[in-house]
Amino acid sequence: MNTVDQCNFKDKKAIVRVDFNVPLDADFNITDDKRMRAALPTIQKILNDGGAVILMSHLGRPKEGPTDKYSLKHILGDLSRMLDLPVKFADDCIGEDAVNKAKNLFPGEVLLLENLRFHKEEEKGDVAFAEKLSKLADVYVNDAFGTAHRAHASTTIIAQFFPKAKYFGYLMAEEIKNAEKVINGPERPFTAIMGGAKVSDKILLIENLLGKVDNLIIGGGMAYTFAKAQGGEIGTSLLEEDRMPLCLELLEKAKAKGVNLILPIDTVIADRFDNAANKDQVDSGNVPADWMGLDIGSKTIALFSEVIRNSKTLLWNGPMGVFEMANFEQGTRAVAEAVVEATKNGAFSLIGGGDSAAAIAKFGLENEVSYVSTGGGALLEYMEGKELPGVKAIQE
Ligand code: AMP
Repeated sequence: MNTVDQCNFKDKKAIVRVDFNVPLDADFNITDDKRMRAALPTIQKILNDGGAVILMSHLGRPKEGPTDKYSLKHILGDLSRMLDLPVKFADDCIGEDAVNKAKNLFPGEVLLLENLRFHKEEEKGDVAFAEKLSKLADVYVNDAFGTAHRAHASTTIIAQFFPKAKYFGYLMAEEIKNAEKVINGPERPFTAIMGGAKVSDKILLIENLLGKVDNLIIGGGMAYTFAKAQGGEIGTSLLEEDRMPLCLELLEKAKAKGVNLILPIDTVIADRFDNAANKDQVDSGNVPADWMGLDIGSKTIALFSEVIRNSKTLLWNGPMGVFEMANFEQGTRAVAEAVVEATKNGAFSLIGGGDSAAAIAKFGLENEVSYVSTGGGALLEYMEGKELPGVKAIQE
């Protein structure tokens, strides 16, 4: 793999696409700096070689051009502290100021460019915009796995201006290595655990996984559409009525491929969508009218946990219930604990980004699994079997 280890950055300026799209509170304090910390090894490598670093990222989804709320200047102080040096800042990612600050950057120095998405050309993958960014540096490095599934100017298009000087950062390399390990050559049994709200979001993923896994566990909101499709009563639980035929199709496909597709056998129900709601537990397909399923039940926890504990490769994407509410987090917590136990027994466990990463962090188990991906959508697309434009652009 073409990583930064293949380059000596001495006296070179590297423009590095990072994913500093971190959550900020109302006072612009960073509430989770994982994505920034994840990019530090790549930055340090370039600085240690005697190179200079120009960082570019997006933050949020600004619609109207420059907006204070989405300015990367809010993270400048934290970044300077993490790197233990004063990071410079250009308040536009292209233009005279950026050009001058990049030109005057010395080895060992770091320049952060303002939010790329203040220019609509970024998301459009505009070639002229990408070329302007490319002129700031000698080498291009992509370390933003979270946006690798987007063919944006800074993640993909820019690479063509560095035909012999483009590299993956350490985070990208690690993400790709772990995703490949799971999808191409997993140790068996290989179990995928799918959850979350909607079947429709995960169809391609489930279809691709059916050709790879031994066990496919389905929990969370999406399981109720399966229960209803099989003739069960689900009350007011989440339902995608138009996906019911597809659920039956997936069950048939799993059978044909010899995949053990495991659905919940019982469910925790509530009389409203509220942590303080009245609670009960019933078998799947037996939810009373006006009640909704918000978590998997205790028999399901035992069933899922047993399969997970006996697996050698685990891929987990999506919570088993409304884990944000303390009264309905039990199923997700139990699955997380089973994944941890399997990992202790030698299994490789990859946790998809997004809500599964949030859940594992909530339970304080981040360091007890093999790898927590920093990319939600990007990892999903990779697992669906798609080529990620940001990865392809470096490999070409
Ligand atoms: P996703 O983004 O598709 O992975 O869905 C994650 C969201 O699904 C989380 O916010 C969960 O609270 C929600 N969720 C999981 N199970 C249920 C359920 N049974 N009913 C309603 N929402 C659910």
